[in-house]
Amino acid sequence: MRSATRLDLLGTEQAYLVLGAARRLEAAGHKVVHLEIGEPDMPTPPHVVEAGIRALRDGLTRYALAAGVPELRDAIAHSLAARGVHAAAENVIVTPGAKPMLFAAALALIQPGDEVLTPDPGFPIYESVVRFAGGRPVYYPLDESRAFAPDVAAIADRITPRTRVIILNLPHNPTGGVAAPDDLTRLAALARQHDLWVISDEVYGQVRYDGKWDSIAALPGMAERTCIVDGFSKAYSMTGWRLGYGVMPKWLADPVTTLLINNISCTATFVQYAGVAALTGPQDAVKRMVSGLRGKRDQLVRGLNAIEGITCATPAGAFYCFPDVSGLLERTGLTSESFAERLLEDAHVAVLAGSAFGPGGKGHLRMCYATDPALIDLALQRIRTFVGSLAGVGAR
Ligand code: PLP
Repeated sequence: MRSATRLDLLGTEQAYLVLGAARRLEAAGHKVVHLEIGEPDMPTPPHVVEAGIRALRDGLTRYALAAGVPELRDAIAHSLAARGVHAAAENVIVTPGAKPMLFAAALALIQPGDEVLTPDPGFPIYESVVRFAGGRPVYYPLDESRAFAPDVAAIADRITPRTRVIILNLPHNPTGGVAAPDDLTRLAALARQHDLWVISDEVYGQVRYDGKWDSIAALPGMAERTCIVDGFSKAYSMTGWRLGYGVMPKWLADPVTTLLINNISCTATFVQYAGVAALTGPQDAVKRMVSGLRGKRDQLVRGLNAIEGITCATPAGAFYCFPDVSGLLERTGLTSESFAERLLEDAHVAVLAGSAFGPGGKGHLRMCYATDPALIDLALQRIRTFVGSLAGVGAR
C-alpha cells in the first residue's frame, strides 16, 4: 500500500523536526534553549483573547461564510491602508493561517510547467507548494553582501517565457532582509513588463526596525497582479489560533473561495472575531513587541559576533538572525545540518541549519530571537562553549 504519488512532491519544515528532537531531550530531563521555532514569545494581547472568548460565549461557533465573516474582511481591507494598499472586503479571503493561503495561491496561479521565481534561501514551503501545484521553482539568490535584499537584476536574469510568478517575502524568513529603497518599484516594473504574478508573503510586514511598512501591491498596476499572503500569527502572537488571509483581485477571490469550500469550508468563526479585535483594537502590543525584539536582535547579533568563527549581520526585519558559520564548518568538517544537530545534542541549543532554507543557506544557521533575553544569554554561553570544544577552534 502507498499514498498517492503527488504527496511525494511535498517538502517540509525542519523547524518541526528539530522541535520534536528538542522535546525528546526535554523529556529526558535536559533544559533546551529554543531558537528554532519562528514564533513570538509574547502572549496574545488580552483584548484579543477576550474577544475570542466573548465570541464563543455569544454562540459564534457555527459555520461562517467560506471567504470569512464580513466584519473581519472589512477590518482587513481597512488595515491594508497602513501599507499603502487600497482594497475592499471583496478582495479579502480569510484562511486558517497564512500557510493555507499560500497553498491556495499556488494552486490558483501556477499551471503545470510554470516557472516560479523563489527566494534562496527562503521559507521551504514555497518550493514545496510550487512543486505540488506542478510548477518549477527557479531560485533567485539573496546574498549577505546585499543585506539579503532581493537583487532585481538577478531576478530579471532568471525570467523566461515560462515564468509566471515571483514569490516575495519581505521582511524575509530566514534572513530578516528587506527590499533596498526603490527596489519594490523596480520589481513591480519587471512584473508588469513580463506579465507576472507576485505572491507577496507579508507575514513579517510589521516586524521591521527601520523604514515604513510597505507592499508591492500598493504600486501602480500591481493590485491586479499581486496576491498578498498575510496573517495574525507573527504580529499579534496568534500562531496557535490559526488565522490568516489573502488579498487579491475579486475575479481570483471567487474561484479561490470555491477552492476553500472544497477543503476547509471556513475558518473558525470565533477566531475570526478575535481577529477583528486584533485589527481594530489598540496596536500598542505590536509596537511593544517590535521595540522589544530590536533589543533582543542586538543582544544576539552582538553575542554571536563575539564568538570566533561566527559572523552575523544585523537583520532589518522579522525575528531571525542568519549567522555565517562557514569558517567553523570548514575547520571542523561539519555541515550546517550536523553543526545544528550537535549544537542541540551536545549543548542543548535548538537552531535550524541554513541549508534547510535552500542551497543558498549553506554555511549559515537560523536563530529565532523572539524569546527571553536571559535565554538568549544562556544560548550564547552554550554556543561559545560548544564552539570552543570543537577541535581546532578556540572561543574568544
Ligand atoms: N510565511 C512565512 C515566511 C513564515 O515564516 C510563516 C511561518 O513561519 C508563514 C508564512 C506561516 O504563517 P501562519 O502561522 O500564519 O500559517
